[in-house]
Amino acid sequence: MLVYPPEGHKTDSKEIFILGSANLSCLINDSAIALEKNGNFCKLIQLKLGENKIQINIDGKSFTRTVYGVLNINNNPNPIAYAQPYRAFTKQANSNNGRVAERTSSGNILQSILISNKDISIPLNVLPDYRLEKINAYHYRLDLGIMEQDLDWIHYSELNPEIKIEQISDTIFDIKFQKPIINHKIKFKNQVLNISFTFSELPLLVCIDPGHGGSQIGAISPKGIFEKDLNLSLAIKLAAELNHQGVKTILTRDHDTEKSLSERVKISQKNKCTLFISLHHNALPDSRDPNKESGFSCHYFHEHSYRLAKFISFKLKSSSSQNFAGIYKQNLHVLRENPDTISVLIELGYLIHPLESELLCKKSFQTKTARILAKALLEFHRNQNFLNESSINALKT
Ligand SMILES: [Zn+2]
Repeated sequence: MLVYPPEGHKTDSKEIFILGSANLSCLINDSAIALEKNGNFCKLIQLKLGENKIQINIDGKSFTRTVYGVLNINNNPNPIAYAQPYRAFTKQANSNNGRVAERTSSGNILQSILISNKDISIPLNVLPDYRLEKINAYHYRLDLGIMEQDLDWIHYSELNPEIKIEQISDTIFDIKFQKPIINHKIKFKNQVLNISFTFSELPLLVCIDPGHGGSQIGAISPKGIFEKDLNLSLAIKLAAELNHQGVKTILTRDHDTEKSLSERVKISQKNKCTLFISLHHNALPDSRDPNKESGFSCHYFHEHSYRLAKFISFKLKSSSSQNFAGIYKQNLHVLRENPDTISVLIELGYLIHPLESELLCKKSFQTKTARILAKALLEFHRNQNFLNESSINALKT
């Protein structure tokens, strides 16, 4: 009988002993094992990273036992991630003593990627000529260089991963993060390329950007109210609401002054703001009928900002009588040039719409909107790791 290891056993050890007893004979991976006089045997065998199928034959009865070699069981007490057998990892020696031959270094075959919430591990034969490029704090790109690719195992050790990878080509991957990255470390040890990331733990600091100002009046209501003034009064209300909840805020302008778009972005970046929200009220070009278009819309540019645009949309939608005009990816300066933060622009409604403008100019509407936005920002920040697409969709019901 075989008493150890149990089926499905996981270990970060590079070896494991096979323990049992037999009446007549025992073969492990087709090699005969010497039995003690009492029939007992204990044989140490080498393990590969990933799945090891050990062929056992006791007294003529064959069966398989599967053992998983994992990277580091101490740091990951409940691992769900294993690499598939890495065929270049070890080369079984054709010998009776069961020793494992020298590891081959005849090139790299990409077979598995393991992703935890702080690092990515890729078993490889030799350190590849890789390139890791930071696109922004939420997005890196890893190019593993030219190698043979037989990738069939990408595994996440967490249910709500903070790190996700997307395969761009055979050996190029986009690495995307839920929280901004401030640092990363790369090491190549024991034939594993490991990239560990340090997430920013910056406190919530909201940059509020009231659109336009000074000579740039923005849209105008049928009663002659300027967008720049509505944007500012809403921004001040939103700041007060957030401050009241203990959240620090920075305004790109706190009075009627002209600020360039790049100055606005600089204020956000210089202060290392966690969230950026630009407030606007909408208009239409000449060719369109202001009676026919109304409602609020949320805009983003970088993918990592989409979740906030969606979350704010959901929050406004569920507590407003306004039409929801949609979420749009927009190539706008304040969104595009502020890639290291989560940046959105909200058009709260059409200031040129005859009916909607009445609502937008009401102080009570602004107070209510400021409250909804403050709540949404706070809630988003608290839960952002869990606010994936499906959980936001689930909130709707
Ligand atoms: Zn505007």
